[in-house]
Amino acid sequence: MLLRKLLFLTITLIILSPLVYFSTGIGQKAHTLSPEPVALANGTLQSSPKAEALHSLSLPIRVERLLVYPILLFLMQYSGLAVKLRAWLTEKWLPPIRRVPGFKWLDRRLARLTRNQLSMADVVIIGLYLTLISLGLLLIYFPFSIYSGFVLRHQFGLSTQTLAAWLRDFGVGWLVNWGITFTTFGGFYLLLKLASRRWPIWGGLGFTLFTFGYIVLEPIVITPLFYEISPVTDLHLQHRIQTMVDRAGVVIDDISIINASSKTTAVNAYFTGYGGASKIFLWDTLLQKHPSDEVDVVIAHEMGHWVYRHVLLSALAACALGWLGLFVWRFWSNRRGPRLGWRGPGDVASYPYLLGMMALVGMLAMPVMNGVSRFAEGQADDFALAVSQKPAAAAAMFERLAQENLAMVDAPTWEKTLFYSHPPLAERIAKAKKWP
Ligand SMILES: [Zn+2]
Repeated sequence: MLLRKLLFLTITLIILSPLVYFSTGIGQKAHTLSPEPVALANGTLQSSPKAEALHSLSLPIRVERLLVYPILLFLMQYSGLAVKLRAWLTEKWLPPIRRVPGFKWLDRRLARLTRNQLSMADVVIIGLYLTLISLGLLLIYFPFSIYSGFVLRHQFGLSTQTLAAWLRDFGVGWLVNWGITFTTFGGFYLLLKLASRRWPIWGGLGFTLFTFGYIVLEPIVITPLFYEISPVTDLHLQHRIQTMVDRAGVVIDDISIINASSKTTAVNAYFTGYGGASKIFLWDTLLQKHPSDEVDVVIAHEMGHWVYRHVLLSALAACALGWLGLFVWRFWSNRRGPRLGWRGPGDVASYPYLLGMMALVGMLAMPVMNGVSRFAEGQADDFALAVSQKPAAAAAMFERLAQENLAMVDAPTWEKTLFYSHPPLAERIAKAKKWP
């Protein structure tokens, strides 16, 4: 009973927490603050008042999400709700579905195909269970999402989207997520029912295939759902890219522009893919707001990620961790499962617990992952300085980023260690100013 009360309290906290952030009044006053970083007499740069204000809201939002999300999932499990949901679906939902024409025929085919290891009832329950949990989390986090993704970004002038457009993106995003959950976790639970004790090997193979497939398909299938992608047609820009490509001695043939300005005023660029499926994406906001020297530095930075194979290496690391995680999960679920009411390893009632464990491990691994990422970003910055040979433009670009993205110029060591995937702008500016 106590755990169920705690679960109820946690859900209430998540739903009401945006009101707390809103009632501080910080967001309402944001438009009166200056977005310009302040240059001190000794030459160092200080975060703008507007960036400071945004940070005072976004840091607690981030910490709340990080800490409360796994607690919510574990409480779903330990309060018995996770098992109850599976039982409720089996008792109330399955009987009418069984009467759907064709169900029995499919059931017989499936039983023959899998030598009685899998029934249509299993498939239906797994699908329904994953969908209901996804929907539940969507609803619980809806006020939180709309506050942090829409209200806050408008208050700080970072969003150019209407509410309707934002809701459309949010809905499409959820559908994509649900599709991925359905295939990956659905496949995982079916595998648990089908395979013998050696399932982590098959699971690891599936995970590897999924990871590498996702990296290739994401820019082709998912990015176009949200953005228009166009090739670089500006001859001047093409020429500058070619000069840097020649200087770096690399083969880079896919640089595209995405119309981020339809959603945001922020500036970004990123690299994705590996081997022949590599791509560099530039946000159109970058090209609109930055002089060409600064754009060159950004492109050279992304080329650095390409040359050092950062995406490939992080995908390999993720696969190794995933594989290890599957063996740990087998050990853990065998020990914990019976006490939590799971009917064997393939019981989908363990899904909230599995999600909770993944969130917890992700949280604990964050300092290491961000440390590795900051190292890789440092490598890409070095590469950018060497290839563009424009250190003054690099420093100016980082200063402009602080203003456009309302980014903090520097961070205390603890915050940098835990949360920073890139070196703080102060370090990047200092490096550029000292170069070579
Ligand atoms: Zn980077």
